[in-house]
Parts: sequence; C-alpha cells; structure tokens
Amino acid sequence: QVKNKGKNNHCFYSADLSQNAVERFTLENQLRRALARDQFEVYYQAQVSLETGRIIGAESLIRWIHPELGVVSPAKFIPLAEETGLIIPIGEWVLRQSAMQVKEWHDQGFDIDWVSVNVSGVQIQRSNFADTVYGILVETDCESHLLELEITESTVMHNTEYVIDVFDRIKHLGVRLAIDDFGTGYSSLSHLKRLPLDKIKIDQSFVRDLPNNSDDAAIATAINAMAQSLGFTVIAEGVETRQQASFLKKIGCQQGQGYLYSRPVTASEFTALLRAEQLNNKK
Ligand code: C2E
Ligand code: MG
Ligand code: MG
Ligand code: MG
Repeated sequence: QVKNKGKNNHCFYSADLSQNAVERFTLENQLRRALARDQFEVYYQAQVSLETGRIIGAESLIRWIHPELGVVSPAKFIPLAEETGLIIPIGEWVLRQSAMQVKEWHDQGFDIDWVSVNVSGVQIQRSNFADTVYGILVETDCESHLLELEITESTVMHNTEYVIDVFDRIKHLGVRLAIDDFGTGYSSLSHLKRLPLDKIKIDQSFVRDLPNNSDDAAIATAINAMAQSLGFTVIAEGVETRQQASFLKKIGCQQGQGYLYSRPVTASEFTALLRAEQLNNKK
C-alpha cells in the first residue's frame, strides 16, 4: 500500500478506487457503459513449450480502451467489476471473444492448441457458469479442447460442493482447467485434488528472482515436482529472462509465459506472431 502512494499522487485513475467515492461512482458508471460502447479489447499473451520454445497457447487478458485514460489495466477495474457484478457480462464477453478468436486461428491452420481465459470467482458463484461456457461453445462453434479456463487459487480455496460441481460440468464439456497464481494462497496441492484440474500456473512472484534466490528456487522446484507427480501440467508465469527460462526447463517445468517471449498484444499482432512462427517452422 505504502509503496503505491507515490504513484497514486501522479495520476488520479491509479488511486485506490475505494478511497474516493466520487471517482469510484464515475468509474462504475463508465464501466457499466463500456461494454455497450465497445471499449473493451482482449489482448493475447503467448504461452510456450519450454522444451521447444514454440508458442503452444495464449492467455486472454482484457484491456479497457478508455476514451480519456487510454489503455486501463484489468488490475484497475476487475475488482470493481467483481463488486458490482459487472464481471458476469464482462467475463462472458471475454469468453465469447476468446472462443471466436481461437476458432479463427485454428480454422486458419495456425498451430495453437488453446486460449486460456481468466474466470473470476464471482462468475462461478453468482451465475450459471457451466451453462454459459456450454452456450458459448455452441454459439461460436468452438471445439471445447481449444479453451482453457484459469481460476485463481484463492477462488478454489472455498471449494464447496457447488464449485466442485461447476468444475466437473466444465471438465465434462472437454474444457481444461488451470489454477492461476499458484503458491500465493494457502491451499495444498492434495486439497486441489478434489477438483478436476489439468494445470498449475506457478505465480510470477516465485519466478521473478530465479535462479539466484534459493528460497524461490526451492519453492518453484517443489511446486513443479509435486504438481507433476499429481498429474498436473505446470506453467510458470512472469518469465522475463533466459536465465529464468533455463532454470525452469532444468527442473522439468513444461511451459512458460512472460515478457521473454511476448508481452500481451492485440489479436492481430498475435496473428502476426503465429504467422512468423509458421514461416520459421517451414524453413
Ligand atoms: P493473471 O491472470 O495472473 O495474468 C498475468 C499478468 O501478468 C498479466 O497482467 C500479464 O500482463 C502480466 N505479465 C505477463 N508476463 C509478465 C512478465 O514477464 N513480467 C511481469 N511483471 N508481468 C507479466 P494484466 O494483463 O495486467 O492482468 C492482471 C490480472 O487481471 C490478471 O492476472 C487476471 O487476474 C486479471 N484479468 C485479466 N484479464 C481478465 C479477464 O478477462 N477476466 C478476469 N476475471 N480477470 C482478468
Ligand atoms: Mg491468468
Ligand atoms: Mg497469474
Ligand atoms: Mg499472475
């Protein structure tokens, strides 16, 4: 909190939204209209095989292209969207865009195995989320294996019968499930075993200081080993350097995502990345 203070003084929109009621009210109203005004855009960030270095998937990351503020990061509006319930229509929109996009890439013959979409706990708790996923797959004619969903560890800690049922239904559709930001919550991997999960995303906070920080090296190694022995695929987030990537590869982590490979980019920029890779592989 203290760390952010300096930044907040410079631009009003990065201030803590709960601190200023007027600003918050304005933002909420703008957020309410943003969908209708077509101000959201889905960016895509490459997920690569650490073995081959090739793009195998992408994560969808929403951006709000605000008429005055420019590109607003999801960290600034997702919490408000969750509090107001707006995350339900917004999340559905992201899912639909992502399904349409991955189907298009797939139909165009690009070698991409999935797009991974972030899902808020609010969507799971307060909407018929499994029905929404099914409806979008039908509507977009997207094959279910092209879609993966990311749920943060904190969401699944309240791992009620209802949540388990929603996950089971989604899994039954053939959509894969990943746990985001793993290691930041307090769940154990064995506890997660109750859920039909496919993938664990090692949180970027454990990747940042690899390979020199021995605590983080031990944590990343332990998460990877335990997750894989339980049958999960493992991806590391926030890979920025070649040293981090080679450490992760050395411990047997299968996938990586981060600025080393690509920043999150627009769909058309991501298409260019896929095209470049396709040309490279033909050589
Ligand atoms: P996340 O799902 O954990 O996504 C990873 C975040 O790390 C993204 O931030 C990404 O841009 C950033 N990142 C990727 N590689 C690197 C790297 O090498 N170094 C560093 N320092 N950062 C990296 P972004 O796009 O700002 O998204 C922040 C969070 O907002 C996401 O965290 C996710 O929790 C949430 N979010 C984004 N899009 C959606 C969405 O459509 N729905 C929901 N419910 N949440 C979303
Ligand atoms: Mg994510
Ligand atoms: Mg994450
Ligand atoms: Mg993260």
